Amino acid sequence: MNINYSMPTRVIMSDGCIAANGGLMRSLGKKALIVTGRSSARVNGAYADVVDALTANGQDFALYDKVMSNPTVACAYAGAAVAVSEKCDFVIAIGGGSPMDAAKGIAVLAVNKVAPSDIFSVNVINALPIAAVPTTAGTGSEVTQYAILTNDAACTKTSISSPELFPRIAFLDAKYTKSLGKDVAINTAVDALSHAVEGMLSARSSPISDALALDGIELISECFEALESGTLTDSVREKLLLASTLAGMVIANTGTTAVHAMGYSLTYFHDIDHGRANGLTLGYFLEFVSKTEPGLVENILRAMNKKTVADFQKALDMLLGKHEKITAVQIGTYAEKAFNTKNIGNCKVKPSKEELIIILTKAVG
Ligand code: NAP
Ligand code: ZN
Repeated sequence: MNINYSMPTRVIMSDGCIAANGGLMRSLGKKALIVTGRSSARVNGAYADVVDALTANGQDFALYDKVMSNPTVACAYAGAAVAVSEKCDFVIAIGGGSPMDAAKGIAVLAVNKVAPSDIFSVNVINALPIAAVPTTAGTGSEVTQYAILTNDAACTKTSISSPELFPRIAFLDAKYTKSLGKDVAINTAVDALSHAVEGMLSARSSPISDALALDGIELISECFEALESGTLTDSVREKLLLASTLAGMVIANTGTTAVHAMGYSLTYFHDIDHGRANGLTLGYFLEFVSKTEPGLVENILRAMNKKTVADFQKALDMLLGKHEKITAVQIGTYAEKAFNTKNIGNCKVKPSKEELIIILTKAVG
């Protein structure tokens, strides 16, 4: 057995966890830059809870609230400029994966001089400390070392990865996800499912990451009906948030696979939400892997309480609805782009470019 598992983020989950544990942020610095999206954190209560905790700690803060979905490199530079001018010495991310990833980019750029053309190749050896408050239940960015930014130079999304980017603390309070619309709740849950499944299909999976992944898959599958009907109880929201953090712990150790590689083009060129973009190909990638590794796929299906890959696909499609359609030329281009990513080397069963074309054609052809 060969295990190399790491998870340095302190994870605190409860109703009211920021009020009860906000004192932990004292160790992060004197002045925070709060990084968030345009509005949701003010509606769901997370922003007020963070501000109250900082005030109780006697810590100052500045605000950068201009993070858009699929954050750009320019957004990370703009946030870093605020961090520098306001003399912030730590960062608190509040929101979905977009603000959390932007906050990580900001944490790097605030203390490193990096040209925009070098941002995806920089070896990050220091960054401002980060605390994360997820308000979607999907990306798991609160427990990963990845900052995924839109890479216009390469027409895709690319990650900056460094152990320095693991948030020091993640505060999980499911009540912040109450204000999520049905589509975002579904797309983010599907992203988390994709992380857990891809983690098991990764060449870097281990018994520890598999245990987390299987738990995550089971939890998410228990929420499928509620997601479909749009009637999420508090306990379902808690399950989804826990599952997304477990799945984040998985990909922090396994990375993602061909599914995310294909999804990046669907998001970049067709503006399809990240989680949905993954969900569109997930079942077909599972079908592809099942031909070589049937036992592995059976384990995943068992956790989903499904007998066949077709049952898995059917359940997923109940959430996703009708798939988008793209042209054969576009499929060829995206298969080529996906094939050239490191995600393919990360797959236990490595697809050829032609096999990616088949998967994409079944999904969105
Ligand atoms: P998101 O882009 O962060 O947010 C999507 C939308 O949901 C935004 O309009 C946001 O509004 C809103 N929203 C967030 N929380 C809400 C709440 N509690 N109530 C109502 N609306 C809320 O979506 P996401 O799916 O969480 O994140 C996707 C990003 O994460 C992608 O860029 C993806 O590449 C990245 N990702 C990162 C990792 C990683 O390990 N780093 C892993 C997977 C995915 P506001 O703008 O007003 O906040
Ligand atoms: Zn993802």
